[in-house]
Order: sequence, then structure tokens, then C-alpha cells
Amino acid sequence: MKDKIILSVDNISKKYQDLENEVLAIDDISFNLSKGEFISIIGPSGCGKSTLLSILAGTDKDYKGNLIIKNNTNIGYMLQNDCLFPWRTILDNCLLGLEINNRLTKENINYVKELLKKYELADFMNKYPDNLSGGMRQRVALIRTLALKPDILLLDEPLSALDSQTRLTIGEDIFNIIKNENITAIMVTHDIGEALSISDRIIVLTKRPAKIKNIYQIPFNNLDYYSRRLDSSFNKLLDQIWRDLDVS
Ligand code: ADP
Ligand code: MG
Repeated sequence: MKDKIILSVDNISKKYQDLENEVLAIDDISFNLSKGEFISIIGPSGCGKSTLLSILAGTDKDYKGNLIIKNNTNIGYMLQNDCLFPWRTILDNCLLGLEINNRLTKENINYVKELLKKYELADFMNKYPDNLSGGMRQRVALIRTLALKPDILLLDEPLSALDSQTRLTIGEDIFNIIKNENITAIMVTHDIGEALSISDRIIVLTKRPAKIKNIYQIPFNNLDYYSRRLDSSFNKLLDQIWRDLDVS
């Protein structure tokens, strides 16, 4: 796997500072991401997960340590909130990133239309976000990010705004899209079942300041989203990670 490393987090720490206070959010985190790998990062609310992701995304440059990203690696970043513009059609929302990056070529537009068709949104291309369910909006947000053909996809609690039933269905949709498109990804979540259903590896963080508590290699990562829940070690890992979070 070593030669396939495309992102390296090397002893990264991060402090937030205002006039009176100093808050250590991340305390000495290191790990590698290999091409094709899906890593989930789990940790208690407020521990520093979004902070870590914004460092990886390059939007936060105020940290200590080293972030090494292989040359010519594009990073796509999907935020917690789907952030669709209500006044733009679904297609125009999906083209937004391409527009901003001056990459609105015929080929790229066709690629987005293909993705919308493939993931059953073709009939909604010319509709507005208000006409869509929460789960569909989430798929649109994912396609908007994929439009830029990122080498690494960063997802910050992509399903957290959905109810638990929708989460399962959309979780599977998102899993399938990511596997089909052969995406390398890091997802932040606080849902252990979701992480076990999608990931190759799970990094568990402590409460703030976030340190690495444990890293789990998922033994059933060759199985699909639903079959994983039936694997004999699914519940054992669920319980183990739950205890990691509880006592951290
Ligand atoms: P998580 O995503 O794990 O819930 P965050 O990374 O958003 O946590 O935040 C980690 C900690 O850093 C929180 O305690 C939060 O209060 C603090 N924090 C986040 N953003 C800022 C900021 N811009 N200024 C000061 N403190 C912040
Ligand atoms: Mg967060």
C-alpha cells in the first residue's frame, strides 16, 4: 500500500486563538491515505473533526505539522449542509464548481448530465432544490463535488441532516456512487454503523483536543453496504468503537 499513498498527515496540531482564550483542537495526529481507500473519522461532537477536514481541504492553513499531498491531486470537499442554491436549477447547481473553476467545457457538462442520469436525477435536472427530498439533495451535492473529478473526496457528516431511515438508503446510494466512481475518500461522521458500512479503515478520535484513539482496519470491506451489517464481526466492532468513544 505504501507506494499508493496520496495524502500524508504528519504530526498535525491546531490551536484556535482569540483575544482571551486558546483552544487546542487537534493534538498531534498522523495517518496516511492510499489511493482507492475510504477512511472514516469518528469522534465525539466538538472534538475537532471539521477542523481536521478543513486542514486537509487546504482551507485552513494555520496549523503545526506537515500535510503532504501527492502532486496534481485535486481535492473535493462536501460540507455538512448541502448548500444548494434555491434559485439555481439542479443542473446549474451541479455545474457551479465547474463554473467557478473555469472548467465549463462541453465534455464536463456531459459528464455531469451522465452522473445525474446514472443516479436517477435526470428528471429533476431542470427543477429547483425545493422540489427535491433531503436524500436527493444530498445526491445532488455529491454530484456537484464529483463534477470536478476530485482525486480525493472529503465528506463532513454528509448524512447528518437526514432522518435515520433516509440515512440508510442514502448511505447506500452514496456508498455505491463512491465505489462505482472509484473515489478515494475521507468521511467525518459520528455514526459508527455508517462508518462500518462504508469504510476500509476507521480512525477513532478522542474528545477535544482530538488525538488518535484507535485505528481499525475493516475486515469485511469487500462486502457491500447491507451485507456488512450481517457479518459476524460487525457488531463486535460497533461495540468496541462505541466503548472507545464513551471512555475517551
Ligand atoms: P467537530 O467537527 O468534531 O464537532 P470542530 O472541529 O468543529 O468539531 O471544533 C472543534 C473545537 O474547536 C470546538 O470546541 C470548537 O468550539 C472549536 N472551534 C471551532 N472553530 C473555531 C473557531 N473558528 N474559533 C474558535 N474555536 C473554534
Ligand atoms: Mg463538525
